[in-house]
Amino acid sequence: MTDNPSKKNGRSKDLVQVKNLVKYYPVRGGVLRRVVAWVKAVDDISFTIKEGETLGLVGESGCGKTTAGHTLLRLIPPTSGSVVFDGVDVFQLKGKALKEMRRKMQVVFQDPYASLDPRLPIGESVAEGLKIHNIGTPRERVEMVMEMLRKVGLEDYHANRYPHEFSGGQRQRIGIARALTLQPRFIVLDEPVSALDVSIQAQVLNLLKDLQQEFGLTYLFVAHNLAVVEHISDRVAVMYLGKIAEMAPRDDLFRKPLHPYTQALMSAIPIPDPTVKRKRVILKGDVPSPLNPPSGCRFHPRCPVARENCAVDEPGLRELRPGHQVACHYAEDFLE
Ligand code: SF4
Repeated sequence: MTDNPSKKNGRSKDLVQVKNLVKYYPVRGGVLRRVVAWVKAVDDISFTIKEGETLGLVGESGCGKTTAGHTLLRLIPPTSGSVVFDGVDVFQLKGKALKEMRRKMQVVFQDPYASLDPRLPIGESVAEGLKIHNIGTPRERVEMVMEMLRKVGLEDYHANRYPHEFSGGQRQRIGIARALTLQPRFIVLDEPVSALDVSIQAQVLNLLKDLQQEFGLTYLFVAHNLAVVEHISDRVAVMYLGKIAEMAPRDDLFRKPLHPYTQALMSAIPIPDPTVKRKRVILKGDVPSPLNPPSGCRFHPRCPVARENCAVDEPGLRELRPGHQVACHYAEDFLE
């Protein structure tokens, strides 16, 4: 397996630039079905991902992380903002240019079973993208599919089997093979191991890392499980109610989180050493609805260290350590 040169030289460029991305869903009511409110699923988020890098996007269910991943791929239309991939504005593309861009930007879903046609042998499902993009002759396509199945740890004979004949882990390998046949540069991994047993999770994560090295892939890894994100990410962005609360290089974030929300999430991760005790931060109440997010800092109703102005003034992201940004008025209190 070859080393990923973009990670090795540390001079890689930004492959994906997400700027002020917004995705609101209308809520309609009354006889005329007028728009009466908006669900603010993703509310003005910005980040970049370097070539060959894995950015983990983490948060509780409903924080907008999956919507963000799907919007930036244009699987769902954005409300506003821009996504620039390799210098090209993805939201401005149409027709052929959009089709070509889709080839370079792929997705692996949490439940690959739902995205596989139960009536098709998986060899045909994996070849689907090649057919759509008119790549290779039928014979060449069979070869490409077999090669990709081998790369993800499956055998040639698996190509003739149907989705129901596979375990969850194998189905996720098929989902990965499907995304890889088109030789993408960027993949959104949408909770790719959440539905798998813990022992299988590690295998699939290691496979993803190996494939990243071999093909020089760039990942956006969307997950709710911090331990999984820590295993695979180079940098991590923590989302809360449609906003980014904190974003930092992985080791920096896990060693010393600066946002009270990240600190609470981290306090819930078990430490595999009985001699080390961590103070658990229990958050008050549930995550508020994105239909009517709290004023000021969206985290203020649950924040254990909130002060008066937190309900009024919305904090923006500020860089407090190199590459470590945090959206909290009082994050300096947590600096060493
Ligand atoms: Fe808590 Fe205030 Fe910081 Fe928000 S800005 S995280 S409410 S201290």
